[in-house]
Amino acid sequence: MLAEHTRFFAYPYQIDQAEMAIFGVPFDCTTSNKPGTRFAPARMRLESINLETYSPDQNLDLADLKVADLGDLICPFGNARKVLDLVYQQTEYILEQNKMPIMIGGEHLLTLGAVEAMNEKYSDLQLVQLDAHTDLRDEYLDEKLSHATVIKHCYNLLGTDRIHAYGIRSGMREEFEFAEQNLNFNPFDLKGMSKLKDKLQNKPVYVTLDLDVLDPAFFPGTGTPEPGGVTFKELLSELFTLQDLNIVGFDLVELCPEVDPSGISTAAACKVLREMLLIAGKSKNII
Ligand code: MN
Ligand code: MN
Repeated sequence: MLAEHTRFFAYPYQIDQAEMAIFGVPFDCTTSNKPGTRFAPARMRLESINLETYSPDQNLDLADLKVADLGDLICPFGNARKVLDLVYQQTEYILEQNKMPIMIGGEHLLTLGAVEAMNEKYSDLQLVQLDAHTDLRDEYLDEKLSHATVIKHCYNLLGTDRIHAYGIRSGMREEFEFAEQNLNFNPFDLKGMSKLKDKLQNKPVYVTLDLDVLDPAFFPGTGTPEPGGVTFKELLSELFTLQDLNIVGFDLVELCPEVDPSGISTAAACKVLREMLLIAGKSKNII
């Protein structure tokens, strides 16, 4: 018998055998504080092997879900738009196979490539953002493509009232004012998430989970830690309310494993991934 360390949760499936497909994007070139999110997909693969596939919270098991790990994109470092195009193509490919795309970053800018592809397939796409930061700048250090501008780009694609933001506690005054006016904006905590079911009904939902929404006490391994965040238990209990939505894809971004040598943050990210896979499976009635 051989050990399997090369795929998330040691899933053996090819894409044509699976219901969902994960890919990693080891890219962090616009990171403004501590870099290193490029190492997240590989570290999460290793750590995921150590996690039970069974979720006691949901009474569901990853063994009952077929997920393919497509590996990591090869990223041309220094060319953010080219990397976004690769993310777009990979997401489009997965959608063409009628599978649910799941992206593991990398930095938050990568979400733009995925949302561009999702928005082509789903005309009424809704974006649920969990984050400590607004990410609504027009540019950062004269760069339009940045992890600090990603949600503004998504807004420019989707328009008003299609972005639902939670947990945000940092940004410029102008970003907060913009968010209040143009987003379904729920700063500081995740309490309003349970209302999404009534609001969105069966509309297609893409969830972008910037893991720095967690308090740094629970998740120190991130490039731009922001005190005042939610606990791990609060995050999970609010994520469970997403089961009732029509989830069509999601991403986890901004784990920076190297800045947390204890491994707590990588373990937290893997557990969030397990729970999110099961939530998405439940949302699709395939588990
Ligand atoms: Mn972010
Ligand atoms: Mn953030």
